Amino acid sequence: MAVLQIRQLGDPVLRRQAAPVEKITKRVLKTLKNMEETMYAADGVGLAAPQVGISERLIVVDYGEGPLHLINPEIVSASGKTIDSEGCLSIPGVSGYVERAAEVVVNALDTKGRVRRIEAEGMFARILQHEIDHLDGVLFIDKATSISREEAEDSAGKQR
Ligand code: ZN
Repeated sequence: MAVLQIRQLGDPVLRRQAAPVEKITKRVLKTLKNMEETMYAADGVGLAAPQVGISERLIVVDYGEGPLHLINPEIVSASGKTIDSEGCLSIPGVSGYVERAAEVVVNALDTKGRVRRIEAEGMFARILQHEIDHLDGVLFIDKATSISREEAEDSAGKQR
């Protein structure tokens, strides 16, 4: 595995619509592994492939229950509203309050190509929405109601 360079705000790859993965190749699996390692190295809770310069619909998430590798994730239903603070590994030192659905259902393929249906709420739902936004070239600062520079890392400073 390898730690990849995380692309920063201003890099055009972050604004591109990422392409669906047609086939789960060894390269795709290796990309996911490298994304996982990059996420942990950066102390993040989620990472989307465009953040490492790969414009494909891949995300990795760890909301405290181990790493989840998702291919072509798609929000199939969303309900409720909740506002909380977010940060992003591609926009270091910045946080903002973002309104998100409180609960989402996400369909995705796992690394074996099986369809997974994930029902998420709370922080897990927020992370999934944040990462799936990355696949559509959307950043949290586009949606944030207020943005602030962080003085220091704190619990709200967990980066995605
Ligand atoms: Zn992010």
